[in-house]
Amino acid sequence: MRTETHVFTAADLVGGDLALDLVNTATARDSVPRDWVPDYAALLRWARTSGVFAARDLATLDRLAAASPHKARAALVRIKAFRESLCTALYALVRGREPAAADLDRLQTAYAAAAAAAQLRRRDGRLVRRWTVAGSQLDLVLHVAAMRALALLEQVELSRLRVCDGHDCGWVFVDTSKSGRRRWCDMATCGNTAKAQRFQRRQAAA
Ligand SMILES: [Zn+2]
Repeated sequence: MRTETHVFTAADLVGGDLALDLVNTATARDSVPRDWVPDYAALLRWARTSGVFAARDLATLDRLAAASPHKARAALVRIKAFRESLCTALYALVRGREPAAADLDRLQTAYAAAAAAAQLRRRDGRLVRRWTVAGSQLDLVLHVAAMRALALLEQVELSRLRVCDGHDCGWVFVDTSKSGRRRWCDMATCGNTAKAQRFQRRQAAA
């Protein structure tokens, strides 16, 4: 997949879940896919935009990656393999098909690694699992995303998973609308583009 540099903004977070937003760091999967994560630094920029990770942890990861570029590249390969398996599995589920065993295996492996790296902490009168740089190292973003992905897939009604209908998009999202008829990742971009194209076709046909 061709990589390109992208400035992540809140407009890129339309999945309704961190794991889906990770899948959406590649775009135009329906035409000529483009990967917005050319390197580990880009992954960290996306993680910062997501709002899920502590700035201090991301700064530590940035330092770790600078000190061990080989390890950072290997961690990037791991999270992208996870992202692509998650994407393929989601596309299958959206289409009412069984995901491929190889993709489910990869999700399970990522989940198991995340579970092994988790640290138990008492918080607000409960015991919760947390992921730290100390426990997860350069896989911190992967571990949190893998946990979120499995939690989502166990809880979400699969009939509410969507792939955007927009051209040059292919983003995945959870349709939380009351009607359950959301077709586009974002009305302001894909929705309006689709409407404009229909309008142009009608004009051309008239
Ligand atoms: Zn879209």
